[in-house]
Amino acid sequence: MNALDKTLPLIKAFIEKFDRPPIMGVRAPGRVNLIGEHTDYNMGFVFPAAIEKEIRIVASPISAPELRIYSMNFDESVTVPLTDIRPSKDKSWSNYIAGVADELIKSGYNPGGCEMLVWGDIPIGSGLSSSAAMEVAAACLFRRLFNLSDISDRSLALLAQKAENNFVGVNCGIMDQFISMMGWDNHALLIDCRTLNAMLVPMPRRGEISIVICDSNIRRKLTGSEYNRRRLECEEGLNLLKKQFPTITALRDVLPGMWEEVEHTIPDPIRKRCRHVIYENQRALDGAEALENNDLEFFGELMKLSHISLRDDFEVSCPELDCLVRAAWGVEECCGSRLTGAGFGGCTVSIVKNEGIEKFKKRLTENYVKEFSIEPNFIVSQAASGASLLRIPSAIPAF
Ligand code: ADP
Ligand code: MG
Repeated sequence: MNALDKTLPLIKAFIEKFDRPPIMGVRAPGRVNLIGEHTDYNMGFVFPAAIEKEIRIVASPISAPELRIYSMNFDESVTVPLTDIRPSKDKSWSNYIAGVADELIKSGYNPGGCEMLVWGDIPIGSGLSSSAAMEVAAACLFRRLFNLSDISDRSLALLAQKAENNFVGVNCGIMDQFISMMGWDNHALLIDCRTLNAMLVPMPRRGEISIVICDSNIRRKLTGSEYNRRRLECEEGLNLLKKQFPTITALRDVLPGMWEEVEHTIPDPIRKRCRHVIYENQRALDGAEALENNDLEFFGELMKLSHISLRDDFEVSCPELDCLVRAAWGVEECCGSRLTGAGFGGCTVSIVKNEGIEKFKKRLTENYVKEFSIEPNFIVSQAASGASLLRIPSAIPAF
């Protein structure tokens, strides 16, 4: 499929909706975290890759100071006045876009009005960050459409994160917006959540391996409350460790060698939570180095250790995710597999040799259906590039 094939249906729908063609388009990808889980709020490292699923927006400016937004996925329209931006209760999908306009205005910029059409193929709410992709796509669109070119990618990603924190009301870290903005074809991104430095790391064996995401189709309400509890437990651990290492300000500062000296003094379950974070942080660093050295075998081992630690020490796995990961570990062509995201449901991520992908899907499906009577969903992807402009033909295409 060429680039225009994917854009044409959006142009066509835009013309039907707004009676004229769009002049501009953007795309921003979803993401999967390869390793480094629950390390972000401990100021540590995460290692995500952008995936070949994305949000696309096509748009044209208008003179009225308002956003007229049409969602193709929801077949709904919203008008947002730029002079009085408020979160929508019944069409909450529009908040991810309105929130970005709101943050731009609060930062002293002056986005104008426009008509926009939004479309996406990132599964919604399965932890692949369709929300950040919406924000990043909207941010890139506004920057281009309203000549705000002095805003860097990095500042724009931070602004998109603020939109999710302040306007949508979700207390997310910076990983999702950074990778959606800064991802690179066939690369993963090592992000230091304290300094916000980010380093691209090439994926090895191009054309031979794929990232395979398996959605357990389990969504648990528990995720939010357990997530908050883990954050508190990490804080408690930090306070206990500060007594022995007064200079630390986050669990990220505790290196494995330091931890081994004092581990016996920390009571459970705080000890287990800290142990996960401290070693997971090291695994994210070692994982990036392993990929850089083409060492998929070691990377796979680190993924396995990460899952075991999330299951036994951080206790955020569930029987469904454990079943999928166990089945994956048993497939010869699978280099590594673990749960990805906050846990308690959602997806697993695996690195699989291309010749084994069909067998991999079959094996996981059989095991999962047998144990839980639920069909899993798969996404097979290469590491994709971050947000970019779409080429929109200036001649109206014949439909
Ligand atoms: P995740 O980021 O894990 O996919 P979230 O709950 O954070 O899940 O964000 C999902 C929300 O983002 C959806 O409920 C919807 O409001 C918005 N969204 C995602 N994709 C689209 C889309 N293609 N069109 C409109 N809104 C979307
Ligand atoms: Mg989200």
